[in-house]
Amino acid sequence: MELDGSRLDVLLLESGGFEEDSATQDLYAGHSRGHPGADLEYSRLRFFGGSTNHWGGFCRPLDEQDFMERPWVPGSGWPMTRADLEPFYARAEPLVELDDGDYSFNHWRSAVPPIFAGPLFERRLEPVIFQLSPPTAMGVLHGATISQSANVRLLLHANAVDLRESDDTRHIETVSIACLDGSRFAIRPRAVVLATGGIENPRLLLASRSVSTHGVGNARDLVGRFYMDHPSHEAANILLRKPSSDARRPAFQRVFAQATLRPEVEREERLMRFMTSIHVGHEMFEEPESYRALREILVAFGHFDWPGSLGEQAGIFIGDINGAIRHGYQRYLADAEALGLRVHAETAPNRDSRITLSTDVDALGMPRVIRDWRLGEIDRHTIRRGLEIVGEEAGRTGLGRLKFHDWVLDDEFVVPGGGSWHHIGTTRMHDDPARGVVDADCRVHGVGNLFIAGSSVFPTSGMANPTLTILALAIRLADHLKRWRPDAR
Ligand SMILES: Cc1cc2nc3c(=O)[nH]c(=O)nc-3n(C[C@H](O)[C@H](O)[C@H](O)COP(=O)(O)OP(=O)(O)OC[C@H]3O[C@@H](n4cnc5c(N)ncnc54)[C@H](O)[C@@H]3O)c2cc1C
Repeated sequence: MELDGSRLDVLLLESGGFEEDSATQDLYAGHSRGHPGADLEYSRLRFFGGSTNHWGGFCRPLDEQDFMERPWVPGSGWPMTRADLEPFYARAEPLVELDDGDYSFNHWRSAVPPIFAGPLFERRLEPVIFQLSPPTAMGVLHGATISQSANVRLLLHANAVDLRESDDTRHIETVSIACLDGSRFAIRPRAVVLATGGIENPRLLLASRSVSTHGVGNARDLVGRFYMDHPSHEAANILLRKPSSDARRPAFQRVFAQATLRPEVEREERLMRFMTSIHVGHEMFEEPESYRALREILVAFGHFDWPGSLGEQAGIFIGDINGAIRHGYQRYLADAEALGLRVHAETAPNRDSRITLSTDVDALGMPRVIRDWRLGEIDRHTIRRGLEIVGEEAGRTGLGRLKFHDWVLDDEFVVPGGGSWHHIGTTRMHDDPARGVVDADCRVHGVGNLFIAGSSVFPTSGMANPTLTILALAIRLADHLKRWRPDAR
């Protein structure tokens, strides 16, 4: 989108077509080890528009402290600040149909449940605002611009399967393309931007072994390492002293508030970023029997597409029937006796948490991936301690008492819901080639014409969902490419 109308001649290679097809989707299948995460095949979509064809639309820039080095988090610190990214966030928002760049609590105070302006947030907690994209399916909204572009050519069903380096490994000479119908060809680009998602980016680098036998950009054995996601699940309840409707959400929402720890609390307690939703009922996604029955009848008549847990969380509703039901559903829960807490936490960069290549291959002969996601001590401590602090504040303010779900009490707990479908950190950004795969321009260290877009470049994940930052970095990269000259190799 950003390069449309520029002087650059752009070839956009897309593995899929305009719709999902199972043979292409199967190219995403892989193996999981370690902490269970979102299913590799179904948590990503391999067709035009990518995973935004089924994302939730939660948007928030990373916070200032996310870019800073935190002495208690090895590997933290970005080679840029939040202020550096600010103009790019502003340009990213319209791409996902957001038109208000203000994320401050005061701006949205009247649009979120009253609990967020109450005493619970006086001392150690603070509310944070997420804006909700409709959610925009990027391929649907922006497909026409790309199809009609004079300088961006879209090639569908074209899988990049190999990046071939020059003999001195200092630039990419050719990109090999394979199609499921058996055809194969190669192109010789001036520059390459790898933008295949946080798992495929390292997969393609690692699998490109024709010159560097350890893979492209991997001289320091960093590609694929430091894999992160946001563990997320229902984790505790606040049993209220008095029934209350203060956490009740409006039926239709543009924004969504969550609770987080104040930066000084995170610092004093040496925690990762921690966030929890506060919602009525024992389970955020619990459906009362009466509504479940109604839904089944409507589904039987083919009128109703209950959006499932994700839609429920995001407040995404398909059609008026959903809205009407939700309205009644919210009323049903109005005087809650308990609040549910659903955690969503940052995890620390960990070398051993990684994407590697398996020995089995997909239909194009590409090695499938093995994802080995690891949670460390600080990650588990953050989740438990963050909840405890919410509990301490609930007790101090007389709101109620916190009760953990059983899984949180296990010292080596596994977060039952796995991750949040965010694949982060596998080609991390650092000025020093010994500590990062790409530099601050998202260029692969040592390879003059290879750039990476996507959450794989984040050195740390922050607590916000990644897509708005992915877009901001991509726009920044597009600006850089417009100025870039090949002799910069
Ligand atoms: C259920 C779900 C809910 C989510 N909710 C949110 C949310 O609320 N907020 C948020 O910020 N994020 C959310 N996400 C994450 C969000 O979808 C991703 O962060 C985002 O889509 C990543 O963008 P990307 O362009 O880097 O990768 P993708 O969207 O995965 O796009 C990669 C593209 O590359 C193509 N491709 C892959 N391999 C090749 C190849 N070898 N050759 C050619 N083309 C290739 C794919 O077909 C695809 O078009 C959610 C994800 C899921 C699954």
